[in-house]
Amino acid sequence: MNDSLELISNDVENCKKCPLFKYACHGVPGEGPSNAKIFFLGQAPGVNEDKTGRPFIGRAGQYLTKRMEEIGLRREDCFITSTVKHFPPANRTPTHEEIAACQPYLIRQLKLINPKLVVLLGKSAQTIKGNPALDGRIVFEVIHPSAAMRFTKMAERMKREFQELKKIVERF
Ligand code: SF4
Repeated sequence: MNDSLELISNDVENCKKCPLFKYACHGVPGEGPSNAKIFFLGQAPGVNEDKTGRPFIGRAGQYLTKRMEEIGLRREDCFITSTVKHFPPANRTPTHEEIAACQPYLIRQLKLINPKLVVLLGKSAQTIKGNPALDGRIVFEVIHPSAAMRFTKMAERMKREFQELKKIVERF
């Protein structure tokens, strides 16, 4: 059977490969078009994402959406997901074991969507670096929006990083 985003979402919803499913209300597989050229990868779903099953819809997500709009990107044209697809309790950082257990879903998404550009948001997202699923793609690292929201210097850095991102997107 051919793989699809729907199949991946279904597999995530039923997944028990790491303990995170036990504490979560919903799987948050990610959302966006199956032919998106730009793929944003964050750390993990938060409380709001867990309630709704949608990625990056809380404050950090709104912050990210604003940065995207400032450089002319429409969120609905991009695919957005995270390294783990279930909410880690108390919003903690996912462990290496949890990220590794969840990575096959991320790799399936990358292979299916085949984006030109993968934007890694924060340190957890960088764990995908070196994976063959990134071969032939532009990989761009930025700080996580939740850090940029808290510290002025980080906010300025993120704006600078997004200006660099804009230059890359303009070359598409
Ligand atoms: S976080 Fe990923 S590996 Fe863990 S239960 Fe959820 S879908 Fe499965």
